[in-house]
Parts: sequence; structure tokens; C-alpha cells
Amino acid sequence: TPSMNDLKDIIRDVPDFPKKGIIFKDITTLLQDARSFQKMIDLLGHRYIGQKIDKVVGVEARGFIIGSALAYKLGVGVVLVRKPGKLPSETFSKTYDLEYGTDTLEIHKDAIKPGERILLADDLLATGGTMAAVVDMVEQMGGNIVECCFMSELTFLDGRKKLPEGKVYSLLQF
Ligand code: IMP
Repeated sequence: TPSMNDLKDIIRDVPDFPKKGIIFKDITTLLQDARSFQKMIDLLGHRYIGQKIDKVVGVEARGFIIGSALAYKLGVGVVLVRKPGKLPSETFSKTYDLEYGTDTLEIHKDAIKPGERILLADDLLATGGTMAAVVDMVEQMGGNIVECCFMSELTFLDGRKKLPEGKVYSLLQF
């Protein structure tokens, strides 16, 4: 069974993607390896088994993979946070700042009920802007955030500073 270092090592570095100077962490190499994928979900899942969680929220697109596998393991539903124009029913949306320009995310208005305990999931924490926007939406809907969980974290970017204190967990740190 893969160790934590094996899981880190199987994530591929792709230089100059999506722009020159950025080293992209390509997690597809972990996902496509049966034992690594299973181990990663098992480790994340074990952290939350036995905690009261009503729903997992996954962030488009790689967060869907982590979020849905986790939700299945915990026996709860999965909620999709998507790019604009993809969700068919009524939505709340949140626009947030990027290095250059802005981005918007949407969630169905009926996806979360006040008081529900929500686990947020994404593949990777970088600057934290994406997850901070999701936190805002979920809190505005009255959801209680259990934790923001990530498969991996680029610690040098300090993204967790943008997220609720003490409610951030990453399995692998770079
Ligand atoms: P942030 O908003 O800067 O924290 O960026 C996080 C979002 O961008 C997540 O949804 C990630 O999937 C994606 N992302 C940023 N950098 C990387 C990377 O190096 N590998 C994979 N995804 C990344």
C-alpha cells in the first residue's frame, strides 16, 4: 500500500502550465493509479468517518472527483459548485479576484439548508481564493462548515489564511 511519500511522488510536475513560470501539480497521475486513488480517498475519509456531516461540496472540476468519492465513503450527498451557466436551476453566485481579473462560481439555491453540516472538498489549495468564495456562499446559505479539505496544498502560497481558522486540512503538502 502506498505511503504518504509515494502519494506525493506520483503527482506529476508540469513546468510552464498553464503559463510560463508556473509548475503545475498534475494529479491525474495519482487518480489513474488504482492503489494511490483508493489510499488517498481512504485517508481523507477516515478523518471524517464518525463526524456528523450532512453533505460534501465539491468544486469544479477536480474537486468533483475527490468530493464525490468522499461523499460516497461517508454515505452522504454531494453538492456541485460550478462555473457560471452550467447549473440548470436557480443559483447563488460569487465573484472573486484572481491574479488577473475575476472568476465566478455558482451553487443551486436549494443545495444546502440552514444548519446543515458541510464538508468542502477540492483537489488543491493554492492561493485560497477559490475555496474562500465557496466558504462565503455556503455560509450565506446558512451551512455550518465542518472543514475545507484538500488532497494537496502549496503551503508557500499561504492560502489557508483566507479560510476559516482551524478548519483547513490537506493530506499532502508541497
Ligand atoms: P486557488 O484559488 O489559488 O487556491 O487555486 C485553487 C484552484 O485552482 C483549485 O480548484 C485547483 O484545482 C486549481 N489549481 C491551482 N493550481 C493548481 C495546480 O498546480 N494543480 C492543480 N490544480 C491547481
